[in-house]
Amino acid sequence: MLRDAVRSLAEAKIAPHAAAVDEEARFPQEALDALTANDLHAVHVPEEYGGAGADALATVIVIEEVARVCASSSLIPAVNKLGSLPVILSGSEELKKKYMTPLAKGDGMFSYCLSEPDAGSDAAGMKTKAVRDGDFWVLNGVKRWITNAGVSEFYTVMAVTDPSKRSKGISAFVVEKSDEGVSFGAPEKKLGIKGSPTREVYLDNVRIPADRMIGAEGTGFATAMKTLDHTRITIAAQALGIAQGALDYAKGYVKERKQFGKPIADFQGVQFMLADMAMKIEAARQLTYAAAAKSERGDSDLTFQGAAAKCFASDVAMEVTTDAVQLLGGYGYTRDYPVERMMRDAKITQIYEGTNQVQRIVMARNLP
Ligand SMILES: Cc1cc2nc3c(=O)[nH]c(=O)nc-3n(C[C@H](O)[C@H](O)[C@H](O)COP(=O)(O)OP(=O)(O)OC[C@H]3O[C@@H](n4cnc5c(N)ncnc54)[C@H](O)[C@@H]3O)c2cc1C
Repeated sequence: MLRDAVRSLAEAKIAPHAAAVDEEARFPQEALDALTANDLHAVHVPEEYGGAGADALATVIVIEEVARVCASSSLIPAVNKLGSLPVILSGSEELKKKYMTPLAKGDGMFSYCLSEPDAGSDAAGMKTKAVRDGDFWVLNGVKRWITNAGVSEFYTVMAVTDPSKRSKGISAFVVEKSDEGVSFGAPEKKLGIKGSPTREVYLDNVRIPADRMIGAEGTGFATAMKTLDHTRITIAAQALGIAQGALDYAKGYVKERKQFGKPIADFQGVQFMLADMAMKIEAARQLTYAAAAKSERGDSDLTFQGAAAKCFASDVAMEVTTDAVQLLGGYGYTRDYPVERMMRDAKITQIYEGTNQVQRIVMARNLP
């Protein structure tokens, strides 16, 4: 029922704008409005804070169905979860009430600020600092590649509170867009997910009350990594949706396009490509849904499974979207058809929330 509801909404309200959102590299406001009106913008927020209380699998299905028509728009529910999960996992009850309530209502989105210009795969090498000053913390630094920066009201920011301790000297904070000293860089000019703003976040003597710290001092990096265990599964869902959208389009196209006097769908070479695409998507789906169930239960092998789902599904998305372009021939290579956008959008799923090389490091360290 959930899938049918999200699919109908996505096809009616999000799909019609997907090409323009990409072409104009503009935020998909129509998608945010439609998702918020239907309580699908941040489905993971627990009911006690006014949220829909969706479990990890239901959240995955929402993201998958939105990504099937518009990958940029799927980053609304996905990054709302990424940004706010540190608060849900480690924040005080007051912090949860204060920030989950407006998120659930649709009064403000959440972003996640871990990466920096010189700290990507090696996120613990961050330089952003937070220094205690009485009942306040003062933050200074630059966060890079922040999804939905400038649009979001709330930001989970990881910062160094004790430089002598590396990852154990990092703490997490909630920073608000309206806090004095917060500003944003120009939107990055990207290959894909062009509708999702990616900007730098500048923190210039941002003074915030001490109760904005998420969890205890020094636990921020652990919270950030624990968050990724759960949210890599949402990136797997995004990849899965992009791949399914490309397969669905190609499936229709090959029945219409005629060469050598018959639909190209009649050629076994084409049929074998479609079979492989569908097989890979189904394998990615099973891995992703199983990982979502593990996320919900908090299973001990979640770190491996989350990394495996993200890595596998994103590689599948890249292969399937490339094959979809191939199946449309020259037409696939133009912006008159959606598959080249899907191919460009798929690429990011192999890079963010840890590149697929990093996922393999994570898997190797956590072999089942
Ligand atoms: C569009 C977009 C949105 C993003 N959104 C967010 C966000 O909302 N919040 C956030 O905090 N970050 C975000 N990121 C950042 C993203 O997570 C990083 O770009 C990613 O983790 C890689 O870091 P890097 O770009 O610095 O690459 P680098 O770490 O410099 O990596 C370069 C290459 O080296 C490889 N490499 C690095 N170390 C190793 C190793 N030990 N072994 C093998 N290979 C290695 C990498 O796999 C990669 O191929 C986003 C990025 C993009 C592009």
